[in-house]
Amino acid sequence: NKVIVVGGVAGGMSFATRYRRLNQNDDIIIFEKGPYVSFANCGLPYHISGEISTRSGLLVVRETLLKERFHLDIRSNAEVISIDSNNKQVTYLKDGETLVESYDKLVLSTGAKPIVIDIKGQYNVPIFTLRNIPDLDKIMRFIKENQPKHATVIGAGYIGLEVAENLIKKGIQTTIVEKAPEVLPIVDPEMAAFIREELVLKQAQVFTGNEIQEIQGNEVLLASGDRFNTDIIVMAVGVFPDSALAKQANVETGIRGGIKVDQHYQTSVKDIYAIGDAILVKNQVSNQEALIPLASPANRQGRQLADILSGLNVTNKGSLGTSIVKVFDLSLGATGLNERQLAGKKYSVLHLTANDHASYYPNATSIYLKVIYDPETELILGAQAVGQKGVDKRIDIIATAIKAKLPVTFLQELEFTYAPPFGSAKDIVNMAGYVAS
Ligand code: FAD
Repeated sequence: NKVIVVGGVAGGMSFATRYRRLNQNDDIIIFEKGPYVSFANCGLPYHISGEISTRSGLLVVRETLLKERFHLDIRSNAEVISIDSNNKQVTYLKDGETLVESYDKLVLSTGAKPIVIDIKGQYNVPIFTLRNIPDLDKIMRFIKENQPKHATVIGAGYIGLEVAENLIKKGIQTTIVEKAPEVLPIVDPEMAAFIREELVLKQAQVFTGNEIQEIQGNEVLLASGDRFNTDIIVMAVGVFPDSALAKQANVETGIRGGIKVDQHYQTSVKDIYAIGDAILVKNQVSNQEALIPLASPANRQGRQLADILSGLNVTNKGSLGTSIVKVFDLSLGATGLNERQLAGKKYSVLHLTANDHASYYPNATSIYLKVIYDPETELILGAQAVGQKGVDKRIDIIATAIKAKLPVTFLQELEFTYAPPFGSAKDIVNMAGYVAS
């Protein structure tokens, strides 16, 4: 068997390494249009400030190791430009040449692309996006050569806020412009408000419910009439599935161009499979089709597809969209659905506050937890938490409870590790269970 993988990072490499373990004799060819496979997309913002100090620290697994240990035929700087599904072959560009390779099975893990919006005006402020190491290199080079004093980040989602924090830590005054009424539109506004306060406390300038109208020279003009000068712009207004190649091969796509797959990651075209940010998944709470561009689902899907193509009985059960972001000293985590996504449905909401560990043990900090559940079935629909410490643990527990379909009242039954430095005898997650019942 000859398997071709397009995209050699989260989903693609997870697929390839697992598939190799199960199939020693198959040919596995990975095409990656960028210079690196298996790099840490999620670490990119932290190199701007130097928090991840070396660029090489962003290369998770070396290409030579993947070639030697896993016998993967890795072709980087090689872009697949078309698929001929009748003759089962792909055409790709490498070193200026147009070449062809045949396949038995084709796996697309082409990821998601940053959305780019046009900005009016006559200006020479550079606008960057951040998806991969070459993008990061461009930002780093500009900062080094031009020593910008002021930066603008468009979009206050996870990536935008991580970039803003790291620009500020680099000593660059930073303004964030977000179109939605509050930062982090992926969660509910009363939770995101904590993050906005933290940003302001750490000297970020934050405009919400606002957008750039035009830029003239170095001056940014906002819809509100506010003006400021800026030297560099990073645009982080969301992503859309990178599905152009799939569409060219007549693979069926849906919402915002997401590739449609069945529960075995099979696309509408025979022997073409897809995983990762490029596909539509079932949201496990709403049971509706969704785009959930996150690393954990992409890795899981890669492994599952390798199992499926090796004859194991595995299915894609969908995703929750469990996520977390650190903004200076605060973290905000979320899982499942938020109130905006539940509009028109029947749901109950709990808000609780407690310390991350016993209050009499030094350095306890507050956690604010929100749990949303169905008042009839008691099933948990979503949760969000914000605080300095322990947010990840609480959201991870609730995400597990959602996957296991535990009712909200059952949260009081859960037993956690406890000693004063770690938690409380009555954890905030237990308390959510008490309050709900
Ligand atoms: P990717 O890992 O993006 O890989 C797709 C690859 O396909 C790309 O390298 C691309 O060059 C290649 N490709 C596309 N088309 C072709 C073609 N025609 N020929 C050859 N190669 C092609 N997720 C989290 O869960 N937590 C985080 O903290 C987090 N932080 C992030 C921070 C940043 C700055 C970014 C950009 C993403 C972050 N993510 C995070 C998202 C996470 O990286 C993705 O969900 C995950 O990488 C998706 O895996 P994938 O395999 O679908 O796509």
